[in-house]
Amino acid sequence: MLPLNSKIAIDLGHGTGGDRGANGFLNEEKIIREYGKFVIDGLRELGYTVYDVTPTKNNLTLSQSLTYRVNMANYYKVDLFVSLHGNCFEKESANGCEVLYMSTKGKEYSDRICKEISSLGYFNRGARFRNDLYVLKHTSMPAVLIEPLFISNKADSNRYNAKDIAKTIIKGITGKEAFQKKSEEVKTENKESYPSIDHTIPNFEGIVPFGDIGYVQIIPNRGRIDLHLDKYNYISIQDDEKEGNKVWITTRTKGTKQII
Ligand SMILES: [Zn+2]
Repeated sequence: MLPLNSKIAIDLGHGTGGDRGANGFLNEEKIIREYGKFVIDGLRELGYTVYDVTPTKNNLTLSQSLTYRVNMANYYKVDLFVSLHGNCFEKESANGCEVLYMSTKGKEYSDRICKEISSLGYFNRGARFRNDLYVLKHTSMPAVLIEPLFISNKADSNRYNAKDIAKTIIKGITGKEAFQKKSEEVKTENKESYPSIDHTIPNFEGIVPFGDIGYVQIIPNRGRIDLHLDKYNYISIQDDEKEGNKVWITTRTKGTKQII
């Protein structure tokens, strides 16, 4: 089981340019984003550090999309990489849950996740060894790719419930029950916590992205440039008649400090 101070990368499969999900009784990309959101929220509520490593650009090729996910997980040095999907097959009869892995540690997580998902009534197809999948091959930590159900099977699709699937995935990873707290308790705790890391690259004028991580924001009418690692970590340089000439640093956990 994953200790509480662990870091987890969640990869919401597909959803950009040349990397598209499948379509059946349900739409793969849509369900991943539904149950994936619960997986992220539930893990955070339990106290885990979660990085959403899904690309934020919508025009990537398949290879750029996969590389981005892996690079982000390796960059954050997470303890576990979890890629979320929905299975699809030409024969409608194929059904059930399976989790793909390549490492020994990955297999342990896969066995537990399959067992939990199958408790919802899905046939347990089990943990499957795969050495041909980019995200399993190139991540530098244990990794799993979860296929909770077949969207091409009617009974699997009818049984689909986003929150239930998320709960079983979280239980399989952590051994803990998510969403047990009342919303009041969660709210009070969140008051003291920091914002989650947000690598979304803003979509307005004056934004210049650097590769996969970070961007510069140019604000010419205030004589200012911000150098961002992500939304909440940046260095600002300003020389403006009204606002003055100064340099300051802002971080997600420590706030803003002027240095000159
Ligand atoms: Zn998929």
